[in-house]
Amino acid sequence: DTGTPRVLSIQSHTVQGYVGNKAAVFPLQLLGFEVDPINSVQFSNHTGYPTVRGQVLNGDELWALIEGLEANDLLYYTHLLTGYIGSLTFLEMVLQVLEKLRTVNPNLIYVCDPVMGDDGKFYINPELVPVFRHKVVPVATMLTPNQFEAENLTGLRIQTETEALEACEVLHASGPSQVVITSLEVDKKLLLIGSSKQNKDEPARQFKITMPKIPAYFTGTGDLMTALLLGWSYKYPDDLSKAAELAVSSLQGVLRKTIKDYEDVGLPPNVKQLELRLIQSQAEITSPKVSYPAERL
Ligand code: ADP
Ligand code: PLP
Ligand code: ZN
Repeated sequence: DTGTPRVLSIQSHTVQGYVGNKAAVFPLQLLGFEVDPINSVQFSNHTGYPTVRGQVLNGDELWALIEGLEANDLLYYTHLLTGYIGSLTFLEMVLQVLEKLRTVNPNLIYVCDPVMGDDGKFYINPELVPVFRHKVVPVATMLTPNQFEAENLTGLRIQTETEALEACEVLHASGPSQVVITSLEVDKKLLLIGSSKQNKDEPARQFKITMPKIPAYFTGTGDLMTALLLGWSYKYPDDLSKAAELAVSSLQGVLRKTIKDYEDVGLPPNVKQLELRLIQSQAEITSPKVSYPAERL
């Protein structure tokens, strides 16, 4: 243990473009983390393109990697981060991985982005949903669903700020002390809703961040958001709203840069094949200017 925070990041890999580990590893490294990626799938590109080809790992293949690390005494992590998971056996095995990591470090923080889909559509096999809901959520420290995922995890309809706050309470009751609903569209604006609990019996501290909706379709923003939330909440462990302000401000910086670069070469930024301009946005990641303040609720 060198004192450097160390993240095991289990997410998708795309050969081309920035989602999953390709969206999370670089920003976390910039924020000073050691990041060890396990690629849950290896795809040619993200699912916004007409064709996707590649490989999906199963549970045994994940376990083989963990056994290799264990045999060399390399299983000390401060954080587990999970995102897109391609198969049911793999998701079940993630639970075993978590259990093992917590025997090595009982204080391990598990940050879970329960990637399922968006705008009412699944981009995973829906048979994973009950496993997320009943087995994964209860063991997560921080949970970062989008609106669609929060609905699937609670069975609630979430269309207003009040409904989002209620969903956070339901999720807290199941396990995670920190819940961030990364986006909720209300009146053409996007809201991020955050909720944190110091202990089970205290009321949650809740806040919202309002941001303009950019008229473009991005993929990988949720993965980047969760990585940034992990990063900044390590620096501000008792202030989720501060961590969220910094994460949102970085992300909006990356999106502005992305749109500008597309427009500069005459491309319309509303294509589904759009890719985040991540490598070009290092300054936005390391030193965000807080332009979207959190409001206490
Ligand atoms: P996911 O990609 O998992 O569905 P979200 O859509 O919630 O996750 O996006 C995560 C974050 O990315 C949001 O909190 C917001 O800051 C930013 N974001 C995504 N799409 C847009 C957009 N069209 N306009 C402005 N911000 C966006
Ligand atoms: N990983 C892969 C391979 C994907 O295709 C997607 C979404 O299409 C994601 C992860 C999740 O992306 P987002 O961060 O937009 O939820
Ligand atoms: Zn997502």
